Amino acid sequence: MTTGITTGIIGGGIAGLASAIALAKIGKDVEVFEKASAFEEVGAGLQIGPNAVSALKVLGAYDAIEQQAFAPEHILIRDGLTGKLLNRLHLGDSFEKMFKQPYRVIHRADLLNGLLETAKTFSNINLKTSKSLTSLEINKNSNECTFSDDTTTNHEILVGADGFRSIVRRHIINDGPPVYAGHSLFRSLIPIENVKNIQNILDVNLWLYPRGHVVHYPVSNGTKINIVAAVEQNWEKRGWSLPTDSTQVLEHFKKAHDSLMAIISQPHEWLKWAAAGHPHASTWHRNNAVLIGDAVHPTLPYMAQGAAMAIEDAVCLGSHLNNNREIKDYAQVRQTRTQKIVDTSTRLGKIYHMTNPSRIARNLVIQNTSSISQFKRMSWLYSWRAPEL
Ligand SMILES: Cc1cc2nc3c(=O)[nH]c(=O)nc-3n(C[C@H](O)[C@H](O)[C@H](O)COP(=O)(O)OP(=O)(O)OC[C@H]3O[C@@H](n4cnc5c(N)ncnc54)[C@H](O)[C@@H]3O)c2cc1C
Repeated sequence: MTTGITTGIIGGGIAGLASAIALAKIGKDVEVFEKASAFEEVGAGLQIGPNAVSALKVLGAYDAIEQQAFAPEHILIRDGLTGKLLNRLHLGDSFEKMFKQPYRVIHRADLLNGLLETAKTFSNINLKTSKSLTSLEINKNSNECTFSDDTTTNHEILVGADGFRSIVRRHIINDGPPVYAGHSLFRSLIPIENVKNIQNILDVNLWLYPRGHVVHYPVSNGTKINIVAAVEQNWEKRGWSLPTDSTQVLEHFKKAHDSLMAIISQPHEWLKWAAAGHPHASTWHRNNAVLIGDAVHPTLPYMAQGAAMAIEDAVCLGSHLNNNREIKDYAQVRQTRTQKIVDTSTRLGKIYHMTNPSRIARNLVIQNTSSISQFKRMSWLYSWRAPEL
């Protein structure tokens, strides 16, 4: 059965739901196709910087999300071998004054739920689950999608928001499967009760370590701690994620200072993800089919900006089309910024994972950089403002 002409969005993750809201706000009829049987996210956290907050406010989704978000007071950067505090960046009033929006940390499911609740308030958004795109025919004025249940749909505009293993990307760019970046990401969530005596547990904590690093911060309104341990290693398994016990994390960080060990020895179960990417895409569209989010610019998560970029993409796409601009020109609006974020994330990974003697020099530089100058350096990222819709 083929349904009528609307805007079709493949993928109901952060990029898909954010773009559904943005396009509905400018008056488009939107259908979202999500392959899972429900709109949901696996348990993990996200940092939401001022740029992402600005985009969420334009979408009208921030109020729903903020209730579950947590407001950390600092980002603490420490050496994971010695435990030494290298820098304390203040996220309070001075930060908000500088960037006009707050910094929040949140469970991914809470962000997705906030977007979902907002999307449901639009009568021109039709949300469909258990719809896995299997093939796509992109023509000049139509995009014919075929799903695994043998249904087809036809859309004037098609948005590929189907993540880093995007099928839509294959039909637009066809640059092969994502390539493993050499980093595994171990993610776990633990109840705050297990670690509430640990100093600074309510801050964003970044621990630098040879060939790896650890980030942890509270989510779910401060009731849980999200931990991510990045480890440089080979990816030995098929597939892109797998549940695992604590053996590999404890082995890699075996020389960690006691205060770091106190955190990473907590979880018994981790979800291990392969960090994978693509080279920068020179084209983001074919006719009226366009890519957004991880489908077009997957990134190492070290700038904490993958979801933020997806939300920015969505608002910018809405604004672009609202100003009667063509899909073919959309990439120009986003490419320079997203490439800079992806490249900076890769560079940060190298810095976070330095071994001696570079590690010692790095620590000195971090120690001697004030909060203000550190944030001034991030102004290109955090001062971004979403266009109104
Ligand atoms: C460890 C880690 C930490 C991170 N921390 C941060 C952070 O602090 N801040 C931040 O901003 N970002 C962070 N990110 C990045 C962020 O999670 C991603 O960039 C973001 O989720 C991308 O959203 P997306 O909607 O583009 O893709 P996805 O979240 O991958 O969503 C794609 C959706 O498409 C669906 N789909 C896939 N194929 C099909 C198909 N064929 N048919 C229909 N549906 C399909 C999927 O089921 C999924 O729902 C982190 C990532 C990792 C791995």
